[in-house]
Amino acid sequence: MSRARAERCPHEPAIDRPADLRLAPAAAGAWGAGFVAPVLPLGGRWWLVGALTVLGTAGLRLLPAGGRSTRHAFAASCALGLLVTAAVAAVATIGLARASTGPIPGLAAERAVADLELRITGDARAVRATVGLPGAAPMLVLPAVVEGVRARGERWSTSTPVVVLATASGWAELLPSTRVQVIGRLGPTTRITREIAVVRVTQPPSVMLEPDLVQRVAGDIRAGLRSAVSDLAPDPRGLVPGVVVGDERLMPPDLVTDAETSGLTHLTAVSGANVTILLAVVLTAARWLGARAYAIPALGLVAIVAFVVLARPQPSVLRAAVMGAAVVVGLGVGARRRRLAPILVTVVVLLLVDPWLARSYGFALSVLASGAIVVLVPGWTERWSSRRWVPAPVAAALAVPLAASMACAPVVVLLSAEVSLVAVLANVLAAPAVAPATVLGVLVAVIAVFWPAAARVVAELAGLPAAWIAVVARWCADLPYATVPWPGDARGALTLAAATAVGAVLARRVLASPPLAALVVLPLVAVGATQVVAPGWPSAGWRLVVCDVGQGDGLVLAAGGGSAVVVDTGPDPAAIDDCLDDLGVEHVPLVLLTHGHADHIDGLGGVGLDRAVGAVATGAVSLAEVAAGATPAEPIAVAAGDVLEVGRLRLTVLWPPPGPTALSRLDPEESVENNASVVVLVEDVDGLRILLTGDIEPSAQRALLASGVDPRSDVVKVAHHGSSYQDPKFLRSNGASLAVISAGADNSYGHPSVTTLDALRSTGAQVRRTDQVGDIAVGGSPGRVWVTTWAR
Ligand SMILES: [Zn+2]
Repeated sequence: MSRARAERCPHEPAIDRPADLRLAPAAAGAWGAGFVAPVLPLGGRWWLVGALTVLGTAGLRLLPAGGRSTRHAFAASCALGLLVTAAVAAVATIGLARASTGPIPGLAAERAVADLELRITGDARAVRATVGLPGAAPMLVLPAVVEGVRARGERWSTSTPVVVLATASGWAELLPSTRVQVIGRLGPTTRITREIAVVRVTQPPSVMLEPDLVQRVAGDIRAGLRSAVSDLAPDPRGLVPGVVVGDERLMPPDLVTDAETSGLTHLTAVSGANVTILLAVVLTAARWLGARAYAIPALGLVAIVAFVVLARPQPSVLRAAVMGAAVVVGLGVGARRRRLAPILVTVVVLLLVDPWLARSYGFALSVLASGAIVVLVPGWTERWSSRRWVPAPVAAALAVPLAASMACAPVVVLLSAEVSLVAVLANVLAAPAVAPATVLGVLVAVIAVFWPAAARVVAELAGLPAAWIAVVARWCADLPYATVPWPGDARGALTLAAATAVGAVLARRVLASPPLAALVVLPLVAVGATQVVAPGWPSAGWRLVVCDVGQGDGLVLAAGGGSAVVVDTGPDPAAIDDCLDDLGVEHVPLVLLTHGHADHIDGLGGVGLDRAVGAVATGAVSLAEVAAGATPAEPIAVAAGDVLEVGRLRLTVLWPPPGPTALSRLDPEESVENNASVVVLVEDVDGLRILLTGDIEPSAQRALLASGVDPRSDVVKVAHHGSSYQDPKFLRSNGASLAVISAGADNSYGHPSVTTLDALRSTGAQVRRTDQVGDIAVGGSPGRVWVTTWAR
C-alpha cells in the first residue's frame, strides 16, 4: 500500500494488514458439511461429526496458552473451524434423521394414496398453465410439512417436509402456516432437496386451521399493496410488489423473461438488498433527524422486523434480513480488514440454523454479492471518485453492480449456461430507481393498511421508478448479444471465475487481496462440488432432450421451473421415467403424443409415475388408441392451427389439418397412422425454433410444405426415426443446423437409413443419433445451437 494512502487515512493503519479471516475456516467447513451431509449414509455422517470433534478439540488443547504469533492464531482458527464444521454436520444429521423417520418415506416409495394433514410453509408458485387446451389443469407447486397421515387403516403423527403439486382450485390462496387436510398420492423426490416426498393432489384443500396472526397481517398488507397498485400500467403494477416483497404474481410473463436476460431478477426477489436499502434510508433519516446514538440500532432493528412481517416471516426472508443487516454492519465497520467478518459470522450462523442452505444457489449468490459489495465497493468508490471526473455517488452506483455481477457470474452461469453482457449496464441504469421504488413501495404497503385512497396516490409515485426499471429491463434485453452462451458446468464456471479474476487484476490489481480470494473460493468450492457429485448431466440451459428410449421417440422440452413438455414417450415406461428423473422434471403440464404407435405412446405410464401431468394431447386419428392406454389425463385432440403455450414454450401445431379429407388424399401406400402424426414447431422465449415431425412420410411431408407453413427452424427431429422414406425438398426446407434422430441401437428396421443421413449432411446440418450417443441435450439460441450427449 502506498505511503500516500496511509497519510490520507491516518486512522486506518490496518489496511496494510491481512484481512480478518479468522472465521473463514469455520465458514468454509460449515458450508462443506452442510453440502456433503445429505449424500452421506447415516453412519458416515456420525463418523464425520465424531472425527471433526476429536480433531478440533485436540487442536485447541495442543495450542500453547497465551501464544500471540500469526501461526498460533491460524492454528486456533482452524481448530475452531473443525468444531464449527462438526456442529453443522451434527445439526444436518439430526435434521436428516428427523425428516426421514416416520411413515412418509415408505409410503412415498410405494406411491401410496394417503389422507394427509399438511401445514403450508411457503407461497404457492404457479407452473404456468397450458393455454389453448380446454381441460388442461393449471398446476401449482407449494412447500408443506406433513403433520398427520392416515393410510392402510393406520394413523401416524409426523413432521416431514414435502412438495405439494396441486392441479385443483383453492391452493393458490393458502397463506403459510395454514393447516389443511387432503387426500393425495405420495411419491419419491428426484432431486437432493430438503423435501422428502412429492404429494400430488387433484382436489381442493379443506382448511382445518386458519393461518396465524402474523401471516394474516402480512397477507392483508400484501393484498392491500396489490390493490393500491391496481390502477398502474401493467409493468409498474407487476414490479412494485415484486421490488417491495418479492411478490411476482402481477408481473407480465415477458417482463419476467426480459428481467432474466438483463440480469435484473434479483430486484424482484426478496434479497438482502431490500433490507440494505431500507436500513440505509431509515438510519440516514434517523441521524438526520438527530436521533441519539443508542436509538439508531433500535430503529434499525424495528425496520428489519417490519420488513420481515411485510415480506412474511419465512426462511428466505429471514435469511435476506440477516444478510442485509450484515452488509450494513460490514460497511459501517471502520477498518477495511474487518468488513468481511460480519458476513462470515452470518454464513456460519445461518448454516448452523439451516445446513440445507449449503446446497442453495440463492444462498451462494447472496453471500457472493454481499461479500463483493462489502470488500470491493468502498475501495473502488474511493479510488474512482478521487479522479475528479466521477462524483462519489456515481462511482458507488457503478461499483455496486459491477462488483456483484462479477462475483456472481460463475454461479449464474451454472444456472443459465449463459453470461449476461448487459447485466452491469442494466443494473447501473436501474440503480437510481431501485431505492426510490423500494422505499415508496414500502410506504404504499404501510399506508394501504389504514388509508387505501392515499396509498393509491403514493402508488402513482412508486410506479415512476418502477416503470423506469421495466424500461431498462426491456431495452437491455433487446440489445444484440445481451447474453452469450457459456458452458454451464463446473469447468465453465471455473473458467469464467478465472477470466473475471484475470480481467479484474489487469484492470487494477484488486483481486490480489486475500478477502476476495476467500470470497471467491468459498461458494465456488460448494458449487463445484455439486458438479462432482452429480456429473454434468443435464447440461444447464438445455431446451430439448432427446431421450434414448430405444426404438421409438421420447422428447422432453424445458418449460421452466422443473416443468417440461413431453413429446412422445417411447415404448418403455421405465426408460422415459429414468430420463425425466435425470432431468429433474417434476411436473409435466402437457404430454403431446404425435400418433398412436407403440414406439411413441407405450411409455406414457412412466411419465405420470413420479410427476403431475396436466394434459395429454394427440391427433384426432389417434385419440381412441391413446385413451385406451395408461393415460394420466383425458386425451384432447389437436390439429393444425392450434397454438399451445406452456411456460417458456409456444407450440404451433402445423399438421395434421383439421378434418379427415386432407389425410385421405395422401399416398395410400404409406402408413395412415404415421401420416396423421402431429407436427409441431416449438418456439422458446429465447427465440430458439425446434421442429418436431413425428413419423410423417413423404406424401404428408409434401402436403405439409404445400400448406404454406413456415418450417424454418434451428433444430429438427428427423421424421420417422430417419427412415429412407423422406421427401428431399422437405429435408432441406427447414434449414436447421442440427438434426436429431431417435432410433434403437441395432434396430431391425435399419433406422436411420444411409441415404437419409447423406441427404441431411448435404444440407450442412450436424447429425446426432440416440442409437450412437444416448441422450441428446440441445440448447443455445438462434444461430448458436449447442448439443451435448450422455450415454447411460
Ligand atoms: Zn415411430
